[in-house]
Amino acid sequence: MKEVRTRFAPSPTGFMHLGGLRTALYNYLYAKKNGGKFILRIEDTDQERFVEGATEVIYDTLRSCGMDWDEGPDIGGNYGPYVQSDRKDLYLPYAKELVEKGAAYYCFCTKEELDERRAACEAKGEVFKYDKHCLSLSKEEVQAKLDAGVPYVIRLNCPTTGETTYEDVVFGKLTFPNDTLDDMVLIKQDGMPTYNFANVIDDHLMDITHVMRGMEYLSSTPKYNLLYNAFGWEIPQYVHLTTVMRDAQHKLSKRHGDAYYSDFIEKGYLKEALINYLALVGWNPGDDREFFTMDELVEVFDIHRLNNSPGIFDMNKLDWMNTQYIAKMDPEKYLEMVTPWFDKVLAGKNIDYKRLAELMQGRTEVFNRVPDMVAFLAEMPEYDLELYTHKKMKTNPEVAKESLELVLPVLEGISDWTESNLHDAVMEAIAASGKKNGAVLWPLRIAISGLASTPGGAFEIAYLLGREETMLRLKKSMEKLAENA
Ligand code: GLU
Repeated sequence: MKEVRTRFAPSPTGFMHLGGLRTALYNYLYAKKNGGKFILRIEDTDQERFVEGATEVIYDTLRSCGMDWDEGPDIGGNYGPYVQSDRKDLYLPYAKELVEKGAAYYCFCTKEELDERRAACEAKGEVFKYDKHCLSLSKEEVQAKLDAGVPYVIRLNCPTTGETTYEDVVFGKLTFPNDTLDDMVLIKQDGMPTYNFANVIDDHLMDITHVMRGMEYLSSTPKYNLLYNAFGWEIPQYVHLTTVMRDAQHKLSKRHGDAYYSDFIEKGYLKEALINYLALVGWNPGDDREFFTMDELVEVFDIHRLNNSPGIFDMNKLDWMNTQYIAKMDPEKYLEMVTPWFDKVLAGKNIDYKRLAELMQGRTEVFNRVPDMVAFLAEMPEYDLELYTHKKMKTNPEVAKESLELVLPVLEGISDWTESNLHDAVMEAIAASGKKNGAVLWPLRIAISGLASTPGGAFEIAYLLGREETMLRLKKSMEKLAENA
């Protein structure tokens, strides 16, 4: 059997859309699953859209996600070059071969002429399709124009009757009436190939066996097949992928929020969680497993389990998955990653980050939510006395006042401010007082944090704040309660 060769062929736009990343992922997984090759090809024939540094964004994203390519611009391979602009001279001879065969033709229509005909067509409510105007030029007329240096493009000569059918792995058998196919441009006036032409030439020359790409190419594929057939080349297997959606109506697009890999990484999603979740948007393993490392994905990936209905990229589900990944991280790695987020609000505060990280790890959904969750350690929030009211803990502002009066001298008496000393001394005092634990610990935590929900309980927070800050906050809260009494 032929070696499986897949390719990811992004245009360097300067960012990596998650839909594109998922396409790369499926190509990577399928190649690895089959012991084949994953090829990276940069499609930059649209020079007007050139963006400085954009290729590096592609390299960095794929590498950091663990999708190393076997052949590509930077590492070479037997089918190079792998950047389309470096291949620009090889396309024209192929286009000329098609002209010889009658499968393509020169077109000298100017932009103005085309615009005019398009407008006339649209005025009649019809969709404009190139009208084969230049197909009627004789060989001599064509040569004369070429000799005179008249600018030209080369177009595909599509049949106008009959239909074209092909088989797609995801969508099955697809049939298109030939009169819907337009005589697309193969070579542009600047001598560069269009995507429509270059993808076929390159996929053939690079021995690509499976073309996996977005479903926006479904309706152009019959035209690509006309090219393959005209050359007498073998048609690759097509695997068109459904669009990644934000919800049933909207594509995942920058216009409607985050859509690029970098957006998610900057917010503090883990790339492992992102990849894991992306794999499931558009594919399923056939059972209810949800967690996969890259190696496990390689193992179970199957193109026959790609969905043919659009995948919804559910942010809540991603958050859930990210939370799970963070919870399972190596604690040292978590500390390293969370430190800059702590620093945003706690820099210079002399807080035990290691302890705080232990308390935060299981509660972190996305790293960018961390600063808000720990900011109370830097500054006591304003809070409402009603926070002291808690039915189950059997407290209210009056109970709280008494409880804090009990605790204040106990805390004052602790010389070595550790969590276990805090715990032992306070618990002993509670036991001696005959009060319920909750009726003391709940108010104590409110009094020093100002929040109903915190990472860790009263002792952990008192420890993190340190003796001085804890006592300061406690006394202030007691004043507040006294004023209310
Ligand atoms: N350069 C095309 C794009 O970025 C690639 C499509 C394909 O994979 O053939 O959409």
